[in-house]
Order: sequence, then structure tokens, then C-alpha cells
Amino acid sequence: MEKNSTASDFQHIGNRLLEWYKNNARDLPFRQTKDPYKIWICEIVFQQTRINQGLNHYNNFIARFPDVRTLAEAEENEVLLYWKGLGYYSRAINIHKAAQQIMNDYQGIFPAQYDEILKLKGVGKYTAAAVSSICFDGKMPAVDGNFYRVLSRFFADDFDISNSRAFTYFSELATLVMPENVGDFNQAMMDIGSEICKPKNPLCVECPINHECLAFSLNKTSEFPVKTKKVKAEDLALTYYFVHRNGQFLIRQRKDDFIWKKLFEFPETIPVEMEKFITSSKIVSHKLTHKNLSIEIFNVNMTSEQLWSNFIAENEYLITDVQGSHEKSFPKPLENYIQNSLKD
Ligand code: SF4
Repeated sequence: MEKNSTASDFQHIGNRLLEWYKNNARDLPFRQTKDPYKIWICEIVFQQTRINQGLNHYNNFIARFPDVRTLAEAEENEVLLYWKGLGYYSRAINIHKAAQQIMNDYQGIFPAQYDEILKLKGVGKYTAAAVSSICFDGKMPAVDGNFYRVLSRFFADDFDISNSRAFTYFSELATLVMPENVGDFNQAMMDIGSEICKPKNPLCVECPINHECLAFSLNKTSEFPVKTKKVKAEDLALTYYFVHRNGQFLIRQRKDDFIWKKLFEFPETIPVEMEKFITSSKIVSHKLTHKNLSIEIFNVNMTSEQLWSNFIAENEYLITDVQGSHEKSFPKPLENYIQNSLKD
């Protein structure tokens, strides 16, 4: 990309994307609104989740928490429950805190300025730019992986997207093509990136900017974006004891730190005298973003009422059953274990 290129050289590209968006925008429920609360929730829900996988969750969440006040006043565990199935539960904890922040610091009115939106708990530059541009005519590009991919291919630009300066670099590149209507432009880039300029096998013949796309003309789309650094996932071993008696089992809530914040889990240790009640064990593998988990779960069938009662009293565990567990949020591997464990 030439350093002396100016916005006027490429602004027609942004306008072409807007034209394409007018006729091809995905028909999504949150596209019918400019309510910043709903746009914010949708941006958070769909950050790590595909649209078709997250749509029901989004609709259920909005039906239960239709506005900032309802969300701010809800119990955290209920918010977590409505987040069930979306994973990355820290996002749910953050949006709950951010809703309370809006009630306390902004009199319940969603802030309109990019810099103010950025102050909300869990809101990063991408989300602040998306909400401010879509709802308040803000002028910041909502740069994410879609922008990296489309722009690096369009300009055949080999700037490394794992570089810590990538966000700033691609934000500047985006301003070269950005038209006046930044809200629609940001949404057009989201749609082009996910529907046309896909990570693998982009549909270049259908792309509205293919005539000027350098990577396409050079037949090098697979070479962009350039990413050199891969974050190596760390191996982590966990142990759990599924302690149960007469269809009931023991759980407790995790703390607000490390992985699986505030989710429910099984006991992590048992006293030696309970080990004789272990009937089986199972190792489950599970991947988190930067962790490869190996989870060993011991099945502990507590036939001794005395030890069962002592263990609960000494450790303040909660007693639940399969039915009751539906009212709580568990990490996926434990959730699966519960569903399978008491079938027989
Ligand atoms: S022509 Fe192909 S590579 Fe270029 S922006 Fe369009 S879809 Fe992406």
C-alpha cells in the first residue's frame, strides 16, 4: 500500500460496498433497530459465535432483558443462565456490570460518544466503534478480523495481523475506503467478510470490489492476511469429583477469576475416607481459546449418608439434581457429564 494514497483515491470502494450492502444486507433482527442497547448486546453475542448459532440465544436474551434497566437489576446468575450455550461467560458478567454502570453513571441512558462507550466494562474499540457508528452516526471504523481480511487482500498488504500495531494500521487503511455513512459501511464490511471474502475460498467472482482487488488479480487471495505469530495453547489438567447420592449431586460456584468465572462446578477434592466410594473415572478433553484442558472426573457414589452430610457441612456445597442443574450454568464439559451421568 502506497503511503501517499489519499482517501479520495479509494472512497468509491466504500461507496460500492454501501451499494452492495443496500441490496445484499443479511436480514437480521438487530438490523431493524438503532437501539444502542440491542446493538451492543448483539455485538457482544456475535463476537465469538456464528449468527445462525447465536440468533436464538440473542432473541431469548433480549426477550428477558429488553433494556438496560432490566439487565442491570437482574441477578447475575440469571444473566449467566440466559448466556448458557454461548460460552465465554466473562462476556455475560461484563455486560451485566456495564448495564449497572450505565444506570449509575449515565442515568440509564446509553452513552452516545465513542470514548464514553469505550469506558463500559468489557467494551473494546471494535464494539464502541460499531455501536457509535450504527446508532449515533459515529465515524470510527469497527475494525475486526473481517476488516483485516478484506483490506489486506484488497490492497495485497502483507502487514502482519499478529503485530500489536495491526489494529491501528488497519484502522488507518479503513479510513482510505470509508464513505460518509460509516454505520452502514461497518455493517457492509461485516457482511462482505463473512459471506463473500471468507477466510477460505473467498467468493471473489461475486465480490463487488473484485475489479480492483489486488490479491484477486494476482491470484494470491490465500496469501492474505499475513499472520506470523500463533499463540500456543497451554496444557492444563483439572480434576473433579462428581459426588452423588440418590440422584442428587454437589456443586459450588467458581470465583470471578481464572477460567469459567462464576460458573458452577463439582468439588475439586474429596477427603481420603471418601475415595472408597469412587466407582469410575473419565478423562475429557476440552479446548478454550488459549488452553487445552484435560479434565479427569471421578464418579463418587456416596452410599454413606454420614460422610455425605459431613462433606456438605464442612465445605458448604450446594445440593442439586439434573432438573435443578438446568437453572445453573456449568462449563460445557461438566454440563455434558451431568446429562450423561445419571441416565442409568
Ligand atoms: S475480490 Fe476476493 S479477495 Fe478481493 S476483497 Fe473480494 S472476496 Fe476478498
